[in-house]
Amino acid sequence: MSIVVVKPGQKINLNKIDPGSTGKFKNKSEAKTQLSKNIKRMAELQNILYAEGKHSLLIVLQAMDAGGKDGTIRSIMSGVNPQGVRVTSFKKPTEEELAHDFLWRIHQAAPARGMIGIFNRSHYEDVLVVRVHNLVPKKVWQARYEHINNFERLLADNGVTILKFYLHISKDEQKERLQARLDQPHKRWKFNPGDLQERELWDDYMHAFETAFEKCSPDYAPWHIVPANKKWYRNLVISEKIVETLEKLNLAYPEPAAGLNDVVIV
Ligand code: ATP
Ligand code: MG
Repeated sequence: MSIVVVKPGQKINLNKIDPGSTGKFKNKSEAKTQLSKNIKRMAELQNILYAEGKHSLLIVLQAMDAGGKDGTIRSIMSGVNPQGVRVTSFKKPTEEELAHDFLWRIHQAAPARGMIGIFNRSHYEDVLVVRVHNLVPKKVWQARYEHINNFERLLADNGVTILKFYLHISKDEQKERLQARLDQPHKRWKFNPGDLQERELWDDYMHAFETAFEKCSPDYAPWHIVPANKKWYRNLVISEKIVETLEKLNLAYPEPAAGLNDVVIV
């Protein structure tokens, strides 16, 4: 798998990571069987995660506009029991949210034991868009990297396994996807003229991402840089990583109540 798992403190140059990579796979049909297998296995593991109620999994998704966060969630969660998953999309903070510290709204959405939580955007916006647009003074956003590490440590110490994925698309791929939103009637609702302004700030965003990767990829919550120009490869890589991570938790169904063998249902 050509996925980059960022090591603590590792400097990343996104220009050097190919967003179009598809690893050893040549095309979608080659990857299809593996993806279906992963989705099926994920459903089995989620069932045990839920039954055991001891661990939880937090999946953080970040990307540029049209990077494929929504599509990833749709694909990789297609097999799981909706009761055990909670997706939270973080938009521009409300007045109330802004009146609190930046992690206040995030912490409330952290997955309870037994649950899979998905963040569609996350607390990283507070060192990405906020930094690129100077929404708070530099001193304030600079302190956030450490706040984030401490916060994720708290979650990890409480049984939350954290997987962070950056969906890495090229600027050309973004252009195509934004153009498709303009051209295709069923995609038009997604077109936001504001995305074009953000696109102009592409290099600033890349730089902000690189800093976040360098500063916030501790071993208990590493960033994964996923080549995401090809949606099928992106889905495959992410599903693979989720299955691998859940397998490592050694999940087990709880012990049944004593004496069940003697129970007779009349
Ligand atoms: P889509 O890919 O469908 O466009 P989206 O995640 O971009 O989905 P939008 O409602 O278009 O959803 O955008 C959410 C906006 O909220 C983004 O521009 C994002 O940068 C912004 N946002 C999220 N968190 C913060 C934050 N903490 N401070 C400022 N802006 C934020
Ligand atoms: Mg958007």
